[in-house]
Amino acid sequence: MPKEETNMNTLTQSLKRLIPVWLGKKIRGTYQKMLGLFYKGHKYHCPYCKHSFRKMLTDGETHPVIAKYQIIGSGLRENCTCPRCYSKDRDRLIHLYLEKKTSLFTSNKPTRVLHIAPEAWLKELFQSLVHVDYTYGVKGVKNMGYYYDRKTLELDITKLAIDDNVYDIIVCNHVLEHIPDDTQALKEIYRILKPGGWAILQVPHSNVLENTYEDESIVNPKEREKHYGQFDHVRVYGKDYPKRLEFVGFQVEQFNPKNETWGKEYIDRYALNSNENLFIAKKLS
Ligand SMILES: [Zn+2]
Repeated sequence: MPKEETNMNTLTQSLKRLIPVWLGKKIRGTYQKMLGLFYKGHKYHCPYCKHSFRKMLTDGETHPVIAKYQIIGSGLRENCTCPRCYSKDRDRLIHLYLEKKTSLFTSNKPTRVLHIAPEAWLKELFQSLVHVDYTYGVKGVKNMGYYYDRKTLELDITKLAIDDNVYDIIVCNHVLEHIPDDTQALKEIYRILKPGGWAILQVPHSNVLENTYEDESIVNPKEREKHYGQFDHVRVYGKDYPKRLEFVGFQVEQFNPKNETWGKEYIDRYALNSNENLFIAKKLS
């Protein structure tokens, strides 16, 4: 094939990929801007887009299983989603942790971050920090349309093609409940973290379920929905979730602003779920 034709084909392929990204972003951006203006107010604040609102969007799922196990992070909740950037309550909890409990925003120390299944608002935050060397990836990226851009890595969380001890921080938010062999995924996350590094490993979880509910024989999406409340979930994590993290070597810390003297103000202002704990898994030095 002549060189010019090859170049033209490559260009066409690139344009095909570029147009949906550009168009998708523009449409989404305009819509969110209008929505943000409609909900503009002073009661709630989103730390990602830095806008304030009279109310946020109601979001989440209604399902008998979610109600039965009182699953935190899945159920329908008022003031859950930011009208402007779509960050959820659980994402704003992560921001609060980074803001109050780490030096990520105040130190210029070079920091390597891996973000698995990146949320757009969190991705923008990491990309805005000049001292952060940021990588992001997800499995099945090629079929994700404009939601993920071309820099998104294809990652198999149970078999990461990444050397040992590479990252200072890993964010893996609401992913493990989709992974059949979550222990293997956790071993991989532990392996690629630097000693002294830590991971945010948030999952939907139940504080009324003593032990994680899972059954390997349930593979049909309809059955999974019936048992776990969502067709692509493979378990409901219970109170033993921290033990799963400890099993692969992590030291686990749980962050809940209600246990802090300054916490209530932020729970109200960021519209957080005061029952939600953030799970931080540390790889000791
Ligand atoms: Zn926002």
